[in-house]
Amino acid sequence: MSKKVLLLPGDGIGPEIVAEAERVLDLVNDKLGLGLETDHALVGGSAIDATGVPLPDETLDKAKASDAILLGAVGGPKWDELDMSIRPEKGLLGLRSNLELFGNLRPAILYPQLASASTLKPEVVSGLDILIVRELTGGIYFGQPRGVRTLENGERQGYNTYVYSESEIKRIAKVAFEAAQKRNGKLCSVDKANVLEVTVLWREILDDMAKDYPDVELSHMYVDNAAMQLVRAPKQFDVMVTGNMFGDILSDAAAMLTGSIGMLPSASLDENNKGMYEPCHGSAPDIAGQGIANPLATILSVAMMLRYSLSENKAADLIEDAVSKVLDQGLRTADIFSEGSTKVSTKEMGDAVVAALESLV
Ligand code: NAD
Repeated sequence: MSKKVLLLPGDGIGPEIVAEAERVLDLVNDKLGLGLETDHALVGGSAIDATGVPLPDETLDKAKASDAILLGAVGGPKWDELDMSIRPEKGLLGLRSNLELFGNLRPAILYPQLASASTLKPEVVSGLDILIVRELTGGIYFGQPRGVRTLENGERQGYNTYVYSESEIKRIAKVAFEAAQKRNGKLCSVDKANVLEVTVLWREILDDMAKDYPDVELSHMYVDNAAMQLVRAPKQFDVMVTGNMFGDILSDAAAMLTGSIGMLPSASLDENNKGMYEPCHGSAPDIAGQGIANPLATILSVAMMLRYSLSENKAADLIEDAVSKVLDQGLRTADIFSEGSTKVSTKEMGDAVVAALESLV
């Protein structure tokens, strides 16, 4: 049976970058005979304009029926005054919760050609390729009880609960071990097991599970040290796995190591590796409609989708090689442009990736 991919262009630069990513997907689908079926739907502000809600039933039904989803971005000033309950971002959150996308994969890749874009020294970050696996639907962000209460002495006290059940830990650990198997076989689990019992359990479960993945080398690191090591010597890491809050912070720090938000893809997976793939950036309303947005994060999201949800590793490798080739040619959209390179538009960047792919397949 053919696999289904749903494309959700969204708002702002979303339609511009998804159009280029779709050409890339169509090309590998066609040339490698992947037999993928693609469809489109509305989400975010564009869905509000057309239907009054950010996540129409039709979109959710199509998303549920697909094997993978590619999202551009949602949101923009046009919808900022709307009530919180019907804002474009609700469309995205609705998709994540309805599809139970608990496993967030955020790679931080720095192509050697873009080493000067980072704020760190080129020798520290050049060739950086880390994958952070963050638990997305549990931990302290969702734990109960939570709130602000007034104590007997009249003082107010804020409180949250950091909680992970065994099954929640096992399912995110499985995603991380399997991701490490598809990469360089190194997994670093980040916790605070010297202070927090919940992460003592986390560590125990990962150690137990490691026996089922003899090809993966598991290590543990406290989160404070991990933050330090990420800026000291980030290339020591292959895959890192951690809970929701630590992952939130570490993945942003890792993303910034690369200095180029227009280059970073991401994935959110469910228990069966069905996933939603999207660039890490937003809808960039300041440059929407100008044809200058960088489509590479979205094109690289297609590569991730082929690898993690569709098991088409060869097609994923080819897309990543094509992106690298285009960077070798010195082609740059405005956000990654530097002296001596050639500035190109969104469409010209898409053309170049398509041409590079055609020469590779
Ligand atoms: P943003 O990521 O959209 O933009 C930040 C800066 O990066 C802007 O200067 C923008 O021009 C630039 N930029 C982003 N992507 C780029 C690309 N592909 N090529 C070139 N430059 C790029 O973040 P923001 O300005 O804080 O948010 C804008 C809107 O996007 C808001 O409505 C926000 O809610 C929404 N947003 C959506 C998502 C999502 O859909 N997943 C994520 C973050 C923000």
